[in-house]
Amino acid sequence: MLDYEIDWQSMSITFSEKPPESIRSMLKYNRYRWNGGEWYPGHGASSEFIESALGKAIDKINGIRRPDGKCWNCENKNGFFRNHGAATPVLCDNCAGKK
Ligand SMILES: [Zn+2]
Repeated sequence: MLDYEIDWQSMSITFSEKPPESIRSMLKYNRYRWNGGEWYPGHGASSEFIESALGKAIDKINGIRRPDGKCWNCENKNGFFRNHGAATPVLCDNCAGKK
């Protein structure tokens, strides 16, 4: 399980183990730099990235499934994006299974 800690003061990130390539390139893309065991935000790094995108990417790696929003059909809170081409709906497992 990949764990991480964010120091909100400095916006630096520490990981419990070396993060996989996908996370490392994400960090670099978002202007984070590796230095002495921590990832530091460089000029222009956004806090939005560590508040949402990073957490989601790490959840995925850890096999944690987080809902994407409300089901468009029954408004159940556990809706997930379904890949159905152009207009990808957010549906709960129940409604997705019905079709
Ligand atoms: Zn539903």
